[in-house]
Amino acid sequence: MSFTVAKFGGTSVADYRSMLRCAEIIQNDSSIRLVVVSACAGVTNRLADIAIARDKKVDFLLDEIGAIHSSIVESFAFSEDKQRALSQLHEELGCHCGKPIEDWAAWRDELLSFGERCSSLLFSWVLEQNGIVSDTLDARQLLKTNSDFGRAQPDELTTKSHCLEQKQKLEPGCVWVTQGFIGSNNQGQTTTLGRGGSDYSAALIAAGFNATDLQIWTDVAGIYTTDPRICSSARAIAEMSFSEAAELATFGAKILHPSSLAPAIQNDIRVFIGSSKDALAGGTYVSASPTTRPDVRAVALRRNQTLVTVHSLSMLHASGFLARLFEILARYNVSVDLVTTSEVSIALTLDEGGSVANGEALLPAAALEELEQFSRVEIETGLSLVAIIGNGIGRDAHISQLTFNTVNNYAVRLICQGASEHNLCFLVDDAQGESVIRIVHEKILG
Ligand code: ADP
Ligand code: ASP
Ligand code: MG
Repeated sequence: MSFTVAKFGGTSVADYRSMLRCAEIIQNDSSIRLVVVSACAGVTNRLADIAIARDKKVDFLLDEIGAIHSSIVESFAFSEDKQRALSQLHEELGCHCGKPIEDWAAWRDELLSFGERCSSLLFSWVLEQNGIVSDTLDARQLLKTNSDFGRAQPDELTTKSHCLEQKQKLEPGCVWVTQGFIGSNNQGQTTTLGRGGSDYSAALIAAGFNATDLQIWTDVAGIYTTDPRICSSARAIAEMSFSEAAELATFGAKILHPSSLAPAIQNDIRVFIGSSKDALAGGTYVSASPTTRPDVRAVALRRNQTLVTVHSLSMLHASGFLARLFEILARYNVSVDLVTTSEVSIALTLDEGGSVANGEALLPAAALEELEQFSRVEIETGLSLVAIIGNGIGRDAHISQLTFNTVNNYAVRLICQGASEHNLCFLVDDAQGESVIRIVHEKILG
């Protein structure tokens, strides 16, 4: 029997009207048994601002968050006890902001969790008002993680056993609503999976409940050949493989969290991505065996890249240089994305999502100091990564030739090709990123 988990992102639950559209999707698909929601659009950003704001600004941001939620409550006459339940959550949020901070990272995750905790409550009430029997589940009882606050790693086995236990309690006809993005560690402290993590939550929960299908409802009708906000000629892709979608997400297509597909792949869950604003517009099916495997499927842009070039101070071919370098980066939890090497130097890009957490610098000062004991380090910021995603890219000279002919007027800072047949990528100046995407899209996918 089919069991669908549907995830609705921030813009899909931004306000009352958007939530109504989601309710209609659920009404029209009886296989949807569990819903994972993001915080209402703009709320997590404001909570993240609170974490670094000063007193007066905190009150202002709390008022703004209150106004977003109140406008939903006011759009429909919710009962007094519901209004009270929401006010209580807001009060709890206010108290949390004023609390003395012992562990900033843990405090921040608890703070960020209020976005999803409020939206899931509101969403469940909207479902009820539309005749759908619904209840909320606290994702922190389901999704167990380690204590890496800000980018917690899930414990998939424990999560699965909690989910299966919960599944036994599901009444026929009831739709559960839970929070994306948040989980909890062994001590019951709230953790988060990193920004954009609700997609990942939805996939982990879908795997946990042995779901057959995962639907990701967002503000565009599927995965496009490139970000439609950058390039108006981008087209929706009807179907693609798991590896193509995973590469695209990793290389910056914001539509999916990079880790989100792994639990779906491992558990053979069909994935559909569509627009909650236009549910009938179709979308993208992601599967293990799509009917087509084109040379180039899409192009993606990832902004704010940091390029670190490490020049060895010792002699040529000094053995152990790379091992020493990576040992230091690993010890400081610095996640490396792309690497290119020459005889005496190595250039690498740092992964902002993987490396930076809790406001720390991407390359901590202590790591830099250790590197500078045996090398000269140059750090460049303000770069964007352009990635061409497809199949057999490394094997087809035609694609790289066409790409570099297309961008020959731009300064390309680093090129990576060959490690995977699914991508070719290079760094350009941030200011030129979008125009490079448009021109590459036009020449290769246009
Ligand atoms: P949600 O709040 O639903 O999680 P996101 O804002 O995280 O939505 O992701 C949807 C956005 O991803 C789209 O509005 C679009 O601008 C962006 N995006 C980037 N690359 C792509 C792509 N290749 N296809 C579709 N959307 C993309
Ligand atoms: N609300 C979280 C964020 O904005 C998680 C998500 O929406 O996926 O990052
Ligand atoms: Mg998202």
